[in-house]
Amino acid sequence: MGLILTGVGVSKGIAIGNACVLNRDQFEINEYVLPKHLVAEEVARFRQALATAKKQLKEIHRKIPRNTPIDIASFLETHVLMLDDSALSDVPVRLIKSQQCNAAWALKQQRDALVGVFEAMDDPYLRTRKDDIDHVVHRILRILLNHAPQPFEASDNRLAGCVMVVGDLSPADSLLMHQQGIAAFVTESGGVTSHATILARSLGIPAVAGVRHARRDIPHNAVVVIDGQQGLVLVDPDEHALRYFRARQREEKRYVTQLAKLKDQPAVTRDGVTITLQANVELPDDLHALKRVGATGVGLYRTEFLFMNRAQLPNEDEQLHAYLHIVRGMKGAPITIRTLDLGADKMLNGYRIGMQGATNPALGLRAVRLCLKEPSLFRTQLRAILRASAHGAVRMMIPMLSAPHELAQVMHLVDQVKQELKEEGRKYDEKMPIGGMIEVPAAALMADVFARQLDFMSIGTNDLIQYALATDRIDEAVNYLYNPLHPGVLRLIDMTISAGREANTPVAMCGEMAGDKRYTRLLLGMGLNQFSMHPAMLLEIKSVVQASNLAELRKMARKVLRCSDPDEINALVDKMNA
Ligand code: PEP
Ligand code: MG
Repeated sequence: MGLILTGVGVSKGIAIGNACVLNRDQFEINEYVLPKHLVAEEVARFRQALATAKKQLKEIHRKIPRNTPIDIASFLETHVLMLDDSALSDVPVRLIKSQQCNAAWALKQQRDALVGVFEAMDDPYLRTRKDDIDHVVHRILRILLNHAPQPFEASDNRLAGCVMVVGDLSPADSLLMHQQGIAAFVTESGGVTSHATILARSLGIPAVAGVRHARRDIPHNAVVVIDGQQGLVLVDPDEHALRYFRARQREEKRYVTQLAKLKDQPAVTRDGVTITLQANVELPDDLHALKRVGATGVGLYRTEFLFMNRAQLPNEDEQLHAYLHIVRGMKGAPITIRTLDLGADKMLNGYRIGMQGATNPALGLRAVRLCLKEPSLFRTQLRAILRASAHGAVRMMIPMLSAPHELAQVMHLVDQVKQELKEEGRKYDEKMPIGGMIEVPAAALMADVFARQLDFMSIGTNDLIQYALATDRIDEAVNYLYNPLHPGVLRLIDMTISAGREANTPVAMCGEMAGDKRYTRLLLGMGLNQFSMHPAMLLEIKSVVQASNLAELRKMARKVLRCSDPDEINALVDKMNA
């Protein structure tokens, strides 16, 4: 048996191939002082390098296949925008002029300054955005220093079937590698939230990130096996291991082909109960993915992604346009647009509206609290959502409700906005359903009250678990406590479902738990009949629904709810899934 390396499994799937170890160019950048008469020429050379970098990115952008599952374009557009940003275009020019230095040195100084700012940020998502700066700077430096193109930049398929072993990857690089038909990625840096990781997941490329010294320990051309679920990299595996992983790979392929056949089938249990399976979307381009899996609607449209990673907030028309893209694309299916959930893990680009210095951002001014504090921001969105409701089955959903007075305030604003639109002669659906997310424990405990006031409720387990267990959802140090099967969490979910049933108010679930097949049967047994999840999970969940018998599950779910011992709960859930 060869070497086994471990990392974080960031994109599931088994891949077997020859390693292509890519060492990023190491730039030796020296400072040298230019004679005064050459400064203008150096500035021109820098500007030309910016223009070339932009042209390269636009060319890659042009080649993105139309059916690419997520908005890969937006990652590249971010990089193009960065090239235009004065931080990267003007500041280095000023440095070249003031210090009479070479362009590469000026750019390096500015890169170090910008990266320093990002590294000092608390937010892990923003901290990883320093990678974007590095990717863009790296591209400009390669041009300035006349480096030869990388193998993946060729327009042939020389990397087809290879497992790419890299230090770190830019979205543009990963896209080029994908176009060459690579089998998998192993990266030394990067985690679940890096752009390249998100891309790998949406392109279905197995990937393991955070494998320290991968480039040192994996010989170029060695046979490697990647298990993107477990985060394993086997180098030079023996025959026995190869046979095992080849069999698993075939099994996976068969499974994916089987699942694809479920796309147009209804989600009906063995005893004839229809379950609603909807999808969560974030970006307008997610529409392709929704169609590919036959989602019957959108249970959660996370609108904050329209606001993130940009300098200016989107205006009413831009928002309307983005909502209508999904509304029209889904041809009459219900679309649940969630009002802004900014704050905590979802920050604006380096700028935290109204929440500077919050010691506990997750408990601070986020989501509906922030919207109520910033009425002009909120009204703009309410107008856009209401206007979208004239064109399809739009529903509006409020995140992070913790007390009925927040709902009353939102309703008051909605009434005002409706009146405004009426006076302007603009169309909207007077009866647009308004629902709320149950993701704060107090809201779950008061679900009976909310159920009477809302048109629908949706359980946001990502936050509900975080708040119920006082466990930060993105802090790896306390990850082990984050448990959807904690009896306290299950009771809160049960209270919400029961309150909805009593009041005849539909209850859905749109947190990650809804898309994890380990919990599907338990939730069905608890009476949940609407699930909304990442589109990639929908067919898998449909297959579980189709193989389930509700009558049996109800009895077992009652047993689970009576349990307080975690081992016993796990054993019962395993039994339900057997
Ligand atoms: C949730 O909290 O479960 C949820 C769906 O919302 P988000 O993950 O966007 O906070
Ligand atoms: Mg949430």
